Amino acid sequence: MANKEIDKELQAKCLCPGCPSYMDCGDPLAYCLVEEVSKCIKTRQGCICDTCPVWEEKGFENGYFCITKGGE
Ligand code: SF4
Ligand code: SF4
Repeated sequence: MANKEIDKELQAKCLCPGCPSYMDCGDPLAYCLVEEVSKCIKTRQGCICDTCPVWEEKGFENGYFCITKGGE
């Protein structure tokens, strides 16, 4: 699979593991950067993307990248 190049330093700043909706399903960090949804997160229990440095840096306006590709 030809994945696009991910900025590893930026990826490491992802706050998802501290999010109330987060479940560890062995997904890569930073759904917004890898552009893949989670294998197991299905329930919205809050999203903290808007407090994340990656969100700020990329100028995103949405969240729940773990559930919806491209966010919602
Ligand atoms: S914006 Fe959300 S999905 Fe993207 S790196 Fe930050 S916490 Fe993770
Ligand atoms: S994308 Fe948003 S809702 Fe999903 S785990 Fe990350 S911070 Fe939580």
